[in-house]
Amino acid sequence: MFLGHFAVGLAAKKVAPKTSLATLLASAEFVDMLWPVFLLSGTEHVRIAPGATAVTPLDLYDYPLSHSLLTGAAWAAGLALAYFALRRYRRGAWVVGACVLSHWVLDAVSHRPDMPLYPGGRTYVGLGLWNSVAATVAVEFGLFVAGVALYARSTAARDRMGQFAFWSLASVLAVLYVASLVGPPPPDVRTLALVSMAGWLLIPWAWWADSHREPTGS
Ligand SMILES: [Zn+2]
Repeated sequence: MFLGHFAVGLAAKKVAPKTSLATLLASAEFVDMLWPVFLLSGTEHVRIAPGATAVTPLDLYDYPLSHSLLTGAAWAAGLALAYFALRRYRRGAWVVGACVLSHWVLDAVSHRPDMPLYPGGRTYVGLGLWNSVAATVAVEFGLFVAGVALYARSTAARDRMGQFAFWSLASVLAVLYVASLVGPPPPDVRTLALVSMAGWLLIPWAWWADSHREPTGS
């Protein structure tokens, strides 16, 4: 899943208004931000296999550290504790943890059964939303529009930059997603990992947008 994770981070602002959107998006996307690092270091593996599912050309056969339920829960606890240590905002820490863990749940809905429960385990979970392009696009955009609407309602722009930075971020996310659907499969795993790492730039962009907006309390 792609847009759905960002939707969770956007919606979470309503629950934890004092937490930056950058932190919330980084939490919801956390394990996908780790994944390219694990690919490049040879810790996790993927095959480029067009047709693996209708939506993705990736055979995600080995990613137990980033995408198992157990490590997902551990990343969630670790990030929540780190956030609490830094910010002393209890509600924000719970929301950060929930965002990290939500990644596994949304991926388990999308992927074919390739998501391990724990590293080394033989049980794989996946409901296979990705077997249908139409259903995937409907769910991804449905969640995304809801997330954008919730964030836009629970914050107000302090200045023109607060409008521009947020709406440009939302537009770029939608365009990136469509490009990933209609574009060619990545030429090799290294390119795939480097392109995935470029996604980290969305986090400072979210920080920029969020710092020009303020919670409305609604
Ligand atoms: Zn993922």
